[in-house]
Amino acid sequence: MKALCWFDKHDVRVEQVPDPEIRNPRDAIVRITSTAICGSDLHLYNGLIPTMQAGDILGHEFMGEVVETGPALTNVRVGDRVVVAFPISCGGCFFCKSEMFSLCENSNPNAWMAAKLMGQSPAGIFGYSHMLGGFAGGQAQYARVPYADIGTIKVPERLSDEQVLFLSDILPTGYMAAEQGNIQRGDTVAVWGCGPVGQFSIASAYMLGAERVIAIDRFPYRLEMARERAGADTIDYEETDVYSALLEATGGRGPDVCIDAVGAEAHAPGVMHAYDRVKQAMMLESDRPYALRQAILACRPGGTVSVPGVYGGFIDKFPMGAVMNKALTIRTGQTHVQRYMRPLLERIERGDIDPTFIITHRLPLDDAPRGYEMFLNKQNGCEKVVLKP
Ligand code: NAD
Ligand code: ZN
Ligand code: ZN
Repeated sequence: MKALCWFDKHDVRVEQVPDPEIRNPRDAIVRITSTAICGSDLHLYNGLIPTMQAGDILGHEFMGEVVETGPALTNVRVGDRVVVAFPISCGGCFFCKSEMFSLCENSNPNAWMAAKLMGQSPAGIFGYSHMLGGFAGGQAQYARVPYADIGTIKVPERLSDEQVLFLSDILPTGYMAAEQGNIQRGDTVAVWGCGPVGQFSIASAYMLGAERVIAIDRFPYRLEMARERAGADTIDYEETDVYSALLEATGGRGPDVCIDAVGAEAHAPGVMHAYDRVKQAMMLESDRPYALRQAILACRPGGTVSVPGVYGGFIDKFPMGAVMNKALTIRTGQTHVQRYMRPLLERIERGDIDPTFIITHRLPLDDAPRGYEMFLNKQNGCEKVVLKP
């Protein structure tokens, strides 16, 4: 089959690779009909995540048709049209039973690698380094889906691929980001980053009762999407001082909930950016937490900072004094996708949200390398690339 493989920083290629095979009784093989490039893939593309190997197949947002099933699967059948959740979760461990699926303690065969960096490992993730399991990803024609009874949701024929594809990751991610913000009716929510995760965080914040959402980015087309499609007010951080603007918008108090939908590769004008980049290059700091710092400083006392943005390792100049003295709550995590797939599918069916508004590019899988470049550099108005294998 054809698959998009990682070789090195900024070097991904579509290659001919062996077809996946059933290895365990709860595996399914899915013929992929749609897949997408995620902001998390950019951390791999930029060479920021350790334990990648040349030839690894990328991709963790995918859906398609079940073409083969292991003998222990009863609720997943050949011919089913399914969306696949990006965390691989067994369904039976302490964490899965508590619906903390992205913390599954059975799905990462290389848990010891992640434990060295983090103390304990999260769940295995498709196409996301050997430290997180070394699983082949879904930017391919086929994928093996372990624990397919837990990790897939059947979708009705009347909904198109594009309407349901993002149940695999970013729609639940934006929703969980808002939910973890503990938004109360009337709250003001600030969202850093107007990428796909930011857009769905804005939309979800409104679904959960926010009165006003203020979104922050620097790309005019992304700010425009946040305004016109997601309904936010916006701040261009290259033109406006974010902290002052947010305080001014909230009677001097700060937003009740601050969402960091940027993560480890934040950009910032001026000195802080140079400082973080140098430290990152010297391996003194692995991540650039500029948006996170700003979110913590702007958040109102007693408020919540919700962090869907991915961080890989260590950060510097973390304003713990602000967190402590302002009594902030910080909530984060890889998304517990399996917990949200059904309720969000119902919301799509009811018309509460139409996730297709973020799609700007549709490319054949063969053009995936161009898709990565465009998405990374925010060229041609690129917000979200859907790939057709
Ligand atoms: P993206 O790259 O499309 O969007 C990031 C946006 O942040 C860009 O528009 C960029 O201009 C903006 N940005 C950069 N620096 C900023 C700053 N200082 N202030 C404000 N905005 C800034 O990526 P995405 O797909 O939207 O993903 C966003 C983050 O969410 C990534 O870190 C990704 O890894 C993470 N993510 C996490 C999960 C999870 O399970 N928690 C799932 C999916 C994605
Ligand atoms: Zn993702
Ligand atoms: Zn589990």
